[in-house]
Amino acid sequence: MDRNSLFHAVSSLSDVMKNGPAIYSQAEGVHLRNHAGKDFIDMGAGLWCVNVGYGRDELADAAAQSMKKLSFQHLFGGAASVSAIELADRLLTLFREKAAAPHMARVFFGTSGSDANDTAYKLVRYFNNMRGLPKKKKFIARLGAYHGLTHASSSLTGISAYHKDFDQPIEGVLHTSCPHYFGFSNAGETEVEFTDRMVADLEALIAKEGPETIAAFIAEPVMGTGGVFLPPEGYFEKIQAVLDRHDILLIADEVITGFGRTGQWFGTGTYKLRPDIVSLAKGLTSAYFPMSASIVSNRIWSVLEAVSEKNGTFMHGFTYSGHPVGCAVAMANLDVIEREDLVGNSARLGPHLLGALKNRLAGHPYVADVRGVGLMVGVEFMADRATRKSFPEGSAPHKIVARHAAQKGVLTRALPFVPVNSFSPPLSITAADIDEAADRYASALTAATPELT
Ligand code: PLP
Repeated sequence: MDRNSLFHAVSSLSDVMKNGPAIYSQAEGVHLRNHAGKDFIDMGAGLWCVNVGYGRDELADAAAQSMKKLSFQHLFGGAASVSAIELADRLLTLFREKAAAPHMARVFFGTSGSDANDTAYKLVRYFNNMRGLPKKKKFIARLGAYHGLTHASSSLTGISAYHKDFDQPIEGVLHTSCPHYFGFSNAGETEVEFTDRMVADLEALIAKEGPETIAAFIAEPVMGTGGVFLPPEGYFEKIQAVLDRHDILLIADEVITGFGRTGQWFGTGTYKLRPDIVSLAKGLTSAYFPMSASIVSNRIWSVLEAVSEKNGTFMHGFTYSGHPVGCAVAMANLDVIEREDLVGNSARLGPHLLGALKNRLAGHPYVADVRGVGLMVGVEFMADRATRKSFPEGSAPHKIVARHAAQKGVLTRALPFVPVNSFSPPLSITAADIDEAADRYASALTAATPELT
């Protein structure tokens, strides 16, 4: 039935036609069961999104109650539901306090990380039109970035595999260097020298295009899909100084890093960002309901508010913006995160996960780097660590290892930019589950090694 009817997202269509789908049918906590009854530890939390773990009655009950009471309410024309108002207020307070960002002003709701970034894309253009800067419209993203797959967000994404044959990126979206120190630094270059080179590359791009044409810079606090790239020393501080100097807005894409992934509530707090727009999704509802939020700064909001009477209705939004069921689920999800101190768990167990993998993989000839922050860890493969020689084009060691890991009952992601397996388990994971997953992964690597040569 699958082969004859289902069009899979981000999948090799020919592989699905040859091999059929991998069907999963049940999950609880960090454990996922497939259709054949085999159990897995889900070290990916789905797509970095099931922060509170699977099978939480509390979230299901919140959804059911909300569906019975008010199954739908939109936000168009000034309408609202109580739950949309309460969630906006709670998110704003949380973000202001936990991310040390008192300058944030309002919350706009959507349904996915991609649409949140599209909202940011449109908001920035609107803002600059309203400011009388119609030429200031270009966006700078980074190579290796992942910002989603709608037309604008996909263009912001800096991984060419997603652009190929879709006529992307669209005009006016530019990409600057990828700040992956381990992979892309020159021989002998210190981390600070590397940061300075990244900053110089950005400055050169801005100078080439003309600062009066550049509207915004978008960045994930930690680049997730690219390969779990932590910002190199001093990176955001220096980048932000450049942006400020040229009146360029900062969009923080916290779709992965939001809600505890880095061991703090938000990556904005972890890396001391001063964003003008923040994109949130995934952990907002732990993926029990498709939902996103865009938090905008006073600087943007004050202009939007000031021009409103003259300029008329703000013509952007979606049927499902602020869906009351999603808002109720998000509230229940935040209750769980707070009550069980899952952000603290991420901070405490992140180093445990990193250490467990480092210990077990140490000395493996193809494991070049194991890095992470909070419960967000990447294992990078190279053909030769010492000379930083990559595997030949087309070979995918991380895919082979991930396949063996799945056979041994542990799910990791094989990422599409550099050969990295990522680990981003539910924040509710225990030390014992981490150790079990690391054991299974290490034995999968041993089993896979003959295929990697
Ligand atoms: N931004 C980041 C940083 C992401 O990791 C993702 C998805 O993985 C997105 C945006 C897109 O989110 P969605 O798939 O919900 O559209």
